Amino acid sequence: MPFDLSLVELVERIKSGDILAETLMDAVYLRIDQYNSSLNVYRSLLPHEVAISRARKIDEKIASGKSVGKLAGIPVSIKDNICINDPNLSNACGSQILGEYHSPYNATVAEKLLGEDALIIGTTNMDEFAMGSSTENSAFGVTRNPWDTERVPGGSSGGAAVSVVSGMAILALGSDTGGSVRQPASMCGITGFKPTYGTVSRYGLVAYGSSLDQIGCFTQSVSDCRYVFSILHGHDVNESTSAKIELSAAPELAELSGLRICLPDEYVDEESADPEVVASVNELAELLESKGATVERQSLEFLKYVIPTYYVLAFAEASSNLGRFDGIRYGIRKQEDASLKSLYTSTRKKGFGEEVKRRIMLGTFVLSSGYYDQYYGRAVQVRAWMEKQVKEVFEKFDFILGPVSPFPAFKFGEKSEDPLAMYLADICSVLANLTRSPAISIPGRPTKAGLPIGLQLMGRRFADHSLLASAAAIQELTAYHKLRPEKNFSTEIKN
Ligand code: GLN
Repeated sequence: MPFDLSLVELVERIKSGDILAETLMDAVYLRIDQYNSSLNVYRSLLPHEVAISRARKIDEKIASGKSVGKLAGIPVSIKDNICINDPNLSNACGSQILGEYHSPYNATVAEKLLGEDALIIGTTNMDEFAMGSSTENSAFGVTRNPWDTERVPGGSSGGAAVSVVSGMAILALGSDTGGSVRQPASMCGITGFKPTYGTVSRYGLVAYGSSLDQIGCFTQSVSDCRYVFSILHGHDVNESTSAKIELSAAPELAELSGLRICLPDEYVDEESADPEVVASVNELAELLESKGATVERQSLEFLKYVIPTYYVLAFAEASSNLGRFDGIRYGIRKQEDASLKSLYTSTRKKGFGEEVKRRIMLGTFVLSSGYYDQYYGRAVQVRAWMEKQVKEVFEKFDFILGPVSPFPAFKFGEKSEDPLAMYLADICSVLANLTRSPAISIPGRPTKAGLPIGLQLMGRRFADHSLLASAAAIQELTAYHKLRPEKNFSTEIKN
């Protein structure tokens, strides 16, 4: 029963005493007991009795008439790179190098969740340091997609997406540097939102590519996402890139008629995108037109350059950010002889996985003095040029529509042998990060075999509310978000 309700409805029922937070927690732990070990979702998890006792405290507060927060009793998972100060939980960022790291402080988003009486129950599996598009790069094994357990859940926040679609959490937070919230949401058939850069604090998010990283959320529906975003966003004095901007308001459901939507040819090119993905995008485009919106196909030349630009910048920033894992300040320490050099090299050699090492080396290369202008400097210029181009697109259009990923969830091993093929999975998602824009993934018509397909709407910077309002209006019409991986998960939960 609890899984048929939205997050917002659950909060209302818990507050009114109609559903106990304890009952909801029990239902979530029943799912965890059944599926966590086979799907490999949680990296650290509250023991059942601790989670129950925290839920009971919320019920007691409500029973005694005390006021509770906007997320009272909601079981939440956070990605393994969002710092949490809880003796029962740890942060490893999907890597061996951190060991069992216990953060001495909470990320701002974790503080905000806890401040609203949410119950953070665990940290979720991810590609090591958020580098990947499939959750195959975790040092702790792959996470499986509940729609087809032979397939990836998407990445890098694969554990986060699976926690929500399988009912092991009601809400999950992840990070999105080039698509890592939207892409696993798309492959798992749920809603994933990457807000405008700077609207949700990154304080306490372990940095990958700082100018691209953004915390976002996974929920079953856009309206739940909107509710959570209204809690998470806001200026943070602890974070230098946090925006001090009042977001413009929007109604809960936007009027679709009159919307002007750009559908880039490059996103629906049948040579590079799966035909079922293209069909799903086209179905939405037709629906929007039937509701009075205009959808215009157009070639956006600059899209050819998004992947090289993103990967040069992300690798460069990663090579600098990951310098802090040196065997001295955090995590494991390895040393073969007494030298400082051996401490650094042995620790990093043993601690980092192959993909992380590849990126540190390439990032160091593009920043090195002989190549800086040719690669990093040029990528910075191309990014600025793209921001200008996108601004011009938004003078004419309200949104850019496309798929989130050119293909649905793929099989394990299908792309992991070829890093370039894996990087191309991000072709539709990285533009939002490069231009710091908000973008959302909502489920579209699935494939004939029943695999989810995520559709993306990207909006103007700081127009997050109107993006959410339009996505919510679309979701009301399509209702694909109501599909569940039924064959593996019954919707009936015995309380
Ligand atoms: N797949 C992209 C990468 O590997 C994006 C990852 C992310 O958003 N964290 O860089």
